[in-house]
Amino acid sequence: MTDDADRVLTAVDALADEAVAFTQDLIRIPTVNPPGEHYADCARFIGDTLAGFGHDVEYHAADDRPEHTAAHPRVNVVGTLRGRDSRPAIHLNGHFDVVPAGEGWSVEPFAGIVRDGCIWGRGAADMKAGLAAAVFAAEAIRRADVARGAPIEISGTVDEESGGLAGVAWLAERKRIAADRTGAVIIPEPLGVDRICVGHRGVYWFELETRGRIAHGSMPFQGVSAIDQMTAFLAHVDAELRPRLAARTTALPVIPAEARHPTINVNGISGGQPVDGIQTPCVADRCRAVFDRRFLLEEGFEAVREEARALIRDVASRTPGFEYDVTDLLVVHPTRTPDDSPLIATFQRALQRVLGRDAAIVLSPGTYDHKHVARIAGVPHCVAYGPGALELAHQPDERCSIDDLMNATRVLALALLELTV
Ligand SMILES: [Zn+2]
Repeated sequence: MTDDADRVLTAVDALADEAVAFTQDLIRIPTVNPPGEHYADCARFIGDTLAGFGHDVEYHAADDRPEHTAAHPRVNVVGTLRGRDSRPAIHLNGHFDVVPAGEGWSVEPFAGIVRDGCIWGRGAADMKAGLAAAVFAAEAIRRADVARGAPIEISGTVDEESGGLAGVAWLAERKRIAADRTGAVIIPEPLGVDRICVGHRGVYWFELETRGRIAHGSMPFQGVSAIDQMTAFLAHVDAELRPRLAARTTALPVIPAEARHPTINVNGISGGQPVDGIQTPCVADRCRAVFDRRFLLEEGFEAVREEARALIRDVASRTPGFEYDVTDLLVVHPTRTPDDSPLIATFQRALQRVLGRDAAIVLSPGTYDHKHVARIAGVPHCVAYGPGALELAHQPDERCSIDDLMNATRVLALALLELTV
């Protein structure tokens, strides 16, 4: 085993330049979501690379999903490196969609440049370096020519940033990832090379619509402003809910530490006349806002939902003319890998060997595709482990250090060696 591990680590070192170049090439395919650009190109690029590395390659277009269109097809790719026997596979999954670049970059976001020991660009950390680490960890196992029992699968999937319904959820619903054929799933999201991530907080999105009465803007006292009503609710959230959330703390090691408390964010708000249009003097009769409530395992979804409803009822009862509608948009339950999952111990050993220090066991503040693996595929053994800093994800000047990329590749390769032997 030690000899095998040495050979695998030597193989990783020899692949460093290729792994960096692959990451750069992935960044240069601007798979921006929304709307989901260049997915088919990216799936094909990953598939061609995997085919060159001896994988059987399948493409899975989520063609029954409404977001799969001719202009923006939802194409997933799965490669399989066969093992000696037909045991359940060890499956590495990475999403290849990225969020829009946004403003404030000091480099071109889709040029995939290397500077100061880092690969720069949108998706560098979240999670194209992670995909590269998965691909080259498996390739190191193959080139080291070590005995391998279980097959290794690598999937590149779409739409994680928008919920993953055409990606990992779709593969799980169609049993391509399933308890009887998938022994474990490893997701190289950018949690940092010394952290093993064993789950995430819950998500509850709801939309509140306030309704007022239109009137002349010069005599607002004759109408009811839906924007003022929404403002009353926002003030209530600030005064009542936020202090309550700040006082609740999970016992689980969620990172960063601020995320050990539940949070609420207003994703968007819109009311009255579009601000870019021609203005007329009118009192807004409609205002809508979307709220993103992140909850703790200990809180439980039903209580979280009822708390939001009670808050709205409170405001309604004390604000004259407060009329509203509330709609649930999305619920993701908290997910957690069982403490005794052998996957955790495997990664602890691999990380100790590569980095010479103990792994931190963490949970993610945000959700990722783990939820679909656990709830739809029914595979309990799932961890996230990958290169890059979570703090840089979705930010301008997103980047991933090459040292991180290679250390994560080493850890993944040693974990694969142990899991497939
Ligand atoms: Zn991600």
